[in-house]
Amino acid sequence: MTTYYPLEKLRKVPGLEYAKYVDPYAGSKGNSIRYLSVAPRTNDMKVIGVDNLLCAGEKAGLFVGHTEAICTGSLAGHNAVRLMMGMPLLILPSSIAIGDLISFANEKVETREGRKDRYTFAGASYFKRMQELGLYSTDKDEINDRIKKVNLDNIFEQKLV
Ligand SMILES: Cc1cc2nc3c(=O)[nH]c(=O)nc-3n(C[C@H](O)[C@H](O)[C@H](O)COP(=O)(O)OP(=O)(O)OC[C@H]3O[C@@H](n4cnc5c(N)ncnc54)[C@H](O)[C@@H]3O)c2cc1C
Repeated sequence: MTTYYPLEKLRKVPGLEYAKYVDPYAGSKGNSIRYLSVAPRTNDMKVIGVDNLLCAGEKAGLFVGHTEAICTGSLAGHNAVRLMMGMPLLILPSSIAIGDLISFANEKVETREGRKDRYTFAGASYFKRMQELGLYSTDKDEINDRIKKVNLDNIFEQKLV
């Protein structure tokens, strides 16, 4: 991705009169060097082959986006505590969008085609899948009901220690 916001416009913002883009990687022609390594993981976000390591975000699959990083990061953090406590790790069911994204990306990464794709709630093939499966909704009540049905409401607020 090329730096897209015009510098002359940016410099009109008070305090940013002398702003400049500094891109050590590729002179503003490539500020998106990513996915140099992705950890193989199970759907509870635990890295395969390492006893005490969990992963999230772009490291945990070919995920794109802040929402995806937050969702997988929250689960990985929660499961890190469970792991430390000797408790079974939580896997989110595929009847909710986050659980489905996590398991779908894991399945796809096994295939050559799947490794060419990226996984995000905001587009690419996953958005279509989410719609086809009836998982896409912007209705908060509907989403809350779905989460309640699988007994996961406020799951990350649960005190484990
Ligand atoms: C130009 C650009 C625009 C984007 N725009 C959007 C957008 O509008 N909306 C959206 O949702 N997403 C956007 N994204 C994608 C989104 O930013 C990423 O998918 C998300 O930030 C990934 O989060 P992450 O936690 O997986 O990785 P990162 O945010 O990359 O965090 C990884 C961290 O690990 C650190 N690190 C790396 N190696 C080591 C090491 N060896 N030791 C210690 N620390 C290390 C890095 O410094 C970094 O802080 C954009 C990405 C780019 C590049």
